[in-house]
Amino acid sequence: MESKLIKKFLPPYNIASRDGKSPFYIHITSEKFPKPIVNHESKKALAGPFLSGQVARQILKRFRHIAPYHTESPCFYRHLGLCRPCPDDPLTRPENYLANISRLRRLLRGQFKQVMRQAIKTLDFETAASLRNLLYQPISPEEYVVNPNLVADRRYASLEALRLAIGIWPLSRIEMYDVANLSGTAATAAMTVAIDGEIDSRNFRHFTIQASGPNDVAMLKEALTRRLKRTDWPTPNLIVLDGGKSQLSIVNFPLPIPTIALAKKEEVIYTPVGKVIRLSKDHPGLQLLMRLRDEAHRFSRRLHHKHRKIV
Ligand SMILES: [Zn+2]
Repeated sequence: MESKLIKKFLPPYNIASRDGKSPFYIHITSEKFPKPIVNHESKKALAGPFLSGQVARQILKRFRHIAPYHTESPCFYRHLGLCRPCPDDPLTRPENYLANISRLRRLLRGQFKQVMRQAIKTLDFETAASLRNLLYQPISPEEYVVNPNLVADRRYASLEALRLAIGIWPLSRIEMYDVANLSGTAATAAMTVAIDGEIDSRNFRHFTIQASGPNDVAMLKEALTRRLKRTDWPTPNLIVLDGGKSQLSIVNFPLPIPTIALAKKEEVIYTPVGKVIRLSKDHPGLQLLMRLRDEAHRFSRRLHHKHRKIV
């Protein structure tokens, strides 16, 4: 059972075979002055799989401000601060360049916190600030004008951050479940959905709980069992349950889809293999899940009010 679940939680390396496309991976070369490259080799990849090479390169581009690297000589990026220290400069010491590469390695593995901590420890506040900006800064109207794709990028970034945190990919359809049992009668479960990182209310659904008693876990199980019978709805890549360990216990039935639980207040993510993931509350991936959960609460309440009015 456990090994089955662990397998489920590992990134599926064969995702692209479904549409016949070969996925992309990010590697770092082993030269004297290593550099990142994007290719189709999954072995020893630092990040991936990515559905497009462009997305992989975009990620590298984002990290280049924080972990500058050298790509070619003569170097155009040196004067932009994107290659610093540059191997073309005879004064460059390899160990200084390599420090950037190990930072890039960490960023690609999603170890943002460690990079941040290291930067603060060495009083490198510029890097700490850049990293913060990269991940959390709200989009200004000016930025939007400069790069209208930024909203899409941000959406992608929150999915990517989530992927790095929980190791599940793709995440094109995420479903969140919440049971509401406000008055004891007309218990319902709400399903909210995010498509490609965007919350899509057209896909929200209510389940009126019929069989189960006033037991959150049993109600959740009933809702999910009925949902999974709906083969006319697209299959989710990830199911998120509002709750903690006890809610997750229903995956023992077992759920054929990767499932996690998000606990309120603490905002801690529980996985069926017993791993507990704690992300900072401004983590863009966690924020997406929190928004989905809040929508589910709102959606449940809306139906309850309707019921009350009818009754
Ligand atoms: Zn350079």
